[in-house]
Amino acid sequence: MTATDHLLRTGPAGTEAVVDEYRDLARPLAERSAGKDFRDQWEALAGLGVLRLAPPEPAGGDAPGPVTRSLAMIEGIGLAGADPGVVYALASQVFGMQYPLRAVLPRDAWESVAHVQDGRVLLCHALTERKGGSDPLSMDTRARRDGEGYVLDGAKTFITAAPVADLALVFARTDEGRSPFALSAFLFPVERPGVTRAEPFAKTALPGVPMGELVFDGVRLPASALIGGEGSGLAVLSSTTTWERALLLGYALGPMRRTLQRVTDWASERGHFGRRMGSSHQVAARLSDMALALHRSRSLLYGMAARLDAGTPTRRLSAEAALTKISVSEDYVRLTGHATALSGVRAFIADSELPADLHSPMAALTYAGPNDLLRVGVAREFGLPVEN
Ligand SMILES: Cc1cc2nc3c(=O)[nH]c(=O)nc-3n(C[C@H](O)[C@H](O)[C@H](O)COP(=O)(O)OP(=O)(O)OC[C@H]3O[C@@H](n4cnc5c(N)ncnc54)[C@H](O)[C@@H]3O)c2cc1C
Repeated sequence: MTATDHLLRTGPAGTEAVVDEYRDLARPLAERSAGKDFRDQWEALAGLGVLRLAPPEPAGGDAPGPVTRSLAMIEGIGLAGADPGVVYALASQVFGMQYPLRAVLPRDAWESVAHVQDGRVLLCHALTERKGGSDPLSMDTRARRDGEGYVLDGAKTFITAAPVADLALVFARTDEGRSPFALSAFLFPVERPGVTRAEPFAKTALPGVPMGELVFDGVRLPASALIGGEGSGLAVLSSTTTWERALLLGYALGPMRRTLQRVTDWASERGHFGRRMGSSHQVAARLSDMALALHRSRSLLYGMAARLDAGTPTRRLSAEAALTKISVSEDYVRLTGHATALSGVRAFIADSELPADLHSPMAALTYAGPNDLLRVGVAREFGLPVEN
């Protein structure tokens, strides 16, 4: 156990044991699959069972509830040093898609897609369009009724895993205007006539997971592809985004702790001005601020997992989930900023012992809802007459 572990292992023993177990299980896989293709890394890590949802019943004794357990597994895999892009993709599928789909779909419809839990079928969440992501009611992608089913036209862009996904959860307009019932959600296989995957984007944040575009040209969808009723797209979206804002950044806990440990070791050992670097109060204060950022993030994320395990409906968690996403993403950026300052030039040398990844934490300010807009939404929930 490392020095920072003593300070930061503040959860119940059952939860910490899951973090340790998955860190130890994932470490050899992460080492063996480093640098391999995304899909190989995904399958190796998903094979540990991280996408398998336990039944929603509360766990007994010290055992973590199902959501807490999933979060602990994701944290453990991140701690093992697995590629952050792959861990992000796992967290996105399990929290941003699987849990909300299980909650929204009737039991038989969920059972027909429940095989996604074995990791051989990859999902993507296709909402954003080229002209903007923050305003879903401005979307152009349309599904028009055609007999029993629908015909889909449009394009979704900047979609995580779109170049490799097997199933897409796609939001489309089924009515005109900005009514809250103008959108519907569809789940269907990407390999379908009329669907084209455009070239992946060369992404600077989380480069370990591909991002791309899906173009729909007269795609015929059966009625069974519709999730919930027609017009319930915003309700489905509100569920997927609340889950995502509550827990997606669980993927960052491992990288944050690894960075804190690396920089602590560096500051403890490096000689500077005739003494060790860590004997400077300013260096110590930066390291404490890093620990504070991690402690706060961990407490908030596990707090959200506990609320979801307790069965709190997502509609009552939207403000709290947004605050959690804002806080953890900004703490991730803050922690990375301190680490970069303390690492000096080594932060900018790719094969040094302290390379910094500034893009991935910064991207967290944007995905799952840009923080500026989430702040507006939180203030609106307080009753301020503020619109986006
Ligand atoms: C790593 C990564 C992964 C992603 N994965 C997916 C995915 O899987 N699926 C998907 O659908 N999308 C995905 N996205 C896209 C993401 O959801 C969008 O980037 C996000 O919704 C914001 O949309 P936008 O980039 O068009 O920004 P915009 O909507 O243009 O907003 C940009 C900025 O403009 C400012 N702004 C704009 N309007 C206002 C306003 N009214 N009030 C205050 N500020 C305002 C804010 O500062 C805001 O941050 C991903 C993005 C990233 C970075």
